[in-house]
Amino acid sequence: MAADHVADAAFPGDPTELAAALDALGLVPYDDPEAAAEPAITLGRLATEWGADDLALRARLVHADVLGRAGNTAGAGTIVRQVQSWAIEHGHAHLRARSERLLSAFYQRLGDTAASLEHAVRGVELLSPDALPRLRADHEMALGLALARTQSFDAARDRIRTVLRIAESTGDVRLRIAVLNNMSFIEYWAGDAEASMASARRMQRLASRHGVVLEPSFVDTLARALMLAGDYGAAERTLSPLLDADQKHFPESDDLPEVLLTLAECQRMRGDTDRASASLRRAAELCSERDLQEVMARVMQEQAAVYAAEGRFADAYVKHVEFFEASEALSTAEREARSRTLHTVFETEEAQRSSRRFREMSLRDPLTGLYNRRYVDDRLPALLARGREDATSLAVAIADLDHFKRVNDTLSHDAGDEVLRRIALMLQSAVLETGGFVARRGGEESLVVLPGLDDDAAVAACEALRRAVREHLWQPVVGDIPVTISLGVVSTDAGAATASELLTTADQRLYVSKNGGRDRVTGG
Ligand code: GH3
Ligand code: MG
Ligand code: MG
Repeated sequence: MAADHVADAAFPGDPTELAAALDALGLVPYDDPEAAAEPAITLGRLATEWGADDLALRARLVHADVLGRAGNTAGAGTIVRQVQSWAIEHGHAHLRARSERLLSAFYQRLGDTAASLEHAVRGVELLSPDALPRLRADHEMALGLALARTQSFDAARDRIRTVLRIAESTGDVRLRIAVLNNMSFIEYWAGDAEASMASARRMQRLASRHGVVLEPSFVDTLARALMLAGDYGAAERTLSPLLDADQKHFPESDDLPEVLLTLAECQRMRGDTDRASASLRRAAELCSERDLQEVMARVMQEQAAVYAAEGRFADAYVKHVEFFEASEALSTAEREARSRTLHTVFETEEAQRSSRRFREMSLRDPLTGLYNRRYVDDRLPALLARGREDATSLAVAIADLDHFKRVNDTLSHDAGDEVLRRIALMLQSAVLETGGFVARRGGEESLVVLPGLDDDAAVAACEALRRAVREHLWQPVVGDIPVTISLGVVSTDAGAATASELLTTADQRLYVSKNGGRDRVTGG
């Protein structure tokens, strides 16, 4: 239903429209995962073309949600973790909130209820107060269910009531039906037959008033409520229309076997063990056809109960052992699948971290840890462009050691290296506050980039640096040999615009400093 909205909506013409389209699309997977797949890719591509990173990542999250619902837990988890790290790094609250919500689903699928709850809590906390009501409902609902799974029923009830209020105030009938269904089976888990019945009945009345056909899992909830209340006949009558229904009325592959299982339990409780066994045979066939091992184990368990009800205790015992072995095998398989998935998700992250590290290394000078020329070529033009946009100036200084050859020649190359490392640290601490950087241009020459500084401020900063080097306690490294630097500095105030113009001027001014006797700064 929501999918039609997206398809019908005009194609986004600007980032605001794109953000709204992504908001709407984010809610589609809940109803119809397949319908969201194509638009997520299309909108993501558009966002990338527009250079809107955060919108592109929102589209990636929708894609992850689709993958997760289709059973690709590892694929979904990998994407969500990537988006989450970007969101944390960039302080993007909305993407953080959505990532947490999807991580909650990820851990739920892995069977880790505690982790699922933790992420659901953060998903609610981080969601902005002006998020779409339907989105808030989605986060609150996930939290409510996670609380119920950890047996915190009162807290779960609170959350689900919040969702119901949102659904009522927005007039969203489908959401109201879904909430009432969840309320009913939370009470079923809690063992409160009366409350479970009350919500199931409200759900049924609301659906019939609005001509909505309840999906099979919701009908199953009603039947379970009736069973808990001891009304097995009514439960069976509730389920039987589903059995004549067309296959396409069962959206999930385990819907029909689940219904048959509930039905068999009703039939056994009413003493009709023949029909209970027939229901279970049909359920077992479907389970092996569709490889539904978890439901199959519960079918065996119910079959054991049916045999026991018939007084066939030996058969009941054998069946029970089969059930026990099947569930053991299942939990072993689940554990292995879980560790494989976690491994995939986190290994990918580690691989990315190390490739970032390698990339970073390729931009650094190994001796001093300063950036290298490659970094300058990449970064300086970007900083200049930003300065132009913000109408702020940027200064560039070139610092060169005076008579450095002497250190190498008189002492050793190692002593020279140590001098270079110390100077590098001094230069780096000088730029810390400005958001600039220092790069080694080769030999004993460094480039200092100082964003936001005009001519006067840049000359003052360079003077301070020059003095710091001169006054540093060099004795332990070089004995009595003086260590000083000369600098040439220029800022965009002088009118020079490109990186290479700035560097040429700085070079010329450095030459002036050297000719003027060294240990000095030359500015504009
Ligand atoms: P000036 O004041 O004119 O700059 O004199 P200078 O001796 O510093 O200049 P010159 O360019 O003649 O010599 C630079 C010296 O820097 C040459 C080389 O021995 C030394 N050098 C360059 N790279 C390194 C390095 O990585 N380690 C060491 N220890 N020395 C280096
Ligand atoms: Mg030199
Ligand atoms: Mg030099």
